[in-house]
Amino acid sequence: MTHTRNTPVSRKQSLVPDLDGMADRAARAWRERMAVDPLGGGRYVVESTSDATYVVSLPGSRCSCPDHTIRNERCKHLRRVAIEVTEGRVPPPGFRAADCLACGRETFVPDAIRLPLCPTCGFEPGDRVRDRETGDLLTVVAVADRRADEVEIEALDATVAAHPSNRAYDPAEPVVEAVYPGSEQRYSFPRSRLVRRPRAASAGDASPTATG
Ligand SMILES: [Zn+2]
Ligand SMILES: [Zn+2]
Repeated sequence: MTHTRNTPVSRKQSLVPDLDGMADRAARAWRERMAVDPLGGGRYVVESTSDATYVVSLPGSRCSCPDHTIRNERCKHLRRVAIEVTEGRVPPPGFRAADCLACGRETFVPDAIRLPLCPTCGFEPGDRVRDRETGDLLTVVAVADRRADEVEIEALDATVAAHPSNRAYDPAEPVVEAVYPGSEQRYSFPRSRLVRRPRAASAGDASPTATG
């Protein structure tokens, strides 16, 4: 026995609570093998390393695991979902994963959008475009979020999809409304019929992305 009976008791102490524990949760959120699946409404199922599954609600910063429900900690599952959202691996609350209707690539779109387009294929009002069929230059006014076979061309009593010049385009694509220079009359096109033009393009623009 080697009692150190005369060792003075140290009164030095740290008041920081469990720093190691906190760092550990953050590190495990990155390191551990977990699967995150969006449920919608800002909720995500997290399958943990141990195969247990928990439900994380991001807007509420809640998790169904004991670390959160009992110890009220910001657990590794909550942290993992936040990481995966930031990294673009799962959609943020209010968004869902969907395949772009124009190019087929997976993208995240707001829940309210019916017809998904990726950032590359989507248009914003003011975008300058060229009509593949005629070569005409137009300016986008709106993306309708309605299918080409749902939107009527009033003057023709036919849908955009049924118009003879649009037969080559997918009737499920969203309709884009655009105007010709100097006019406010809106015309409707299937998304893929319009090609984005560079902002600085001159009038005689020959876009390298044009294929039709
Ligand atoms: Zn948790
Ligand atoms: Zn796309």
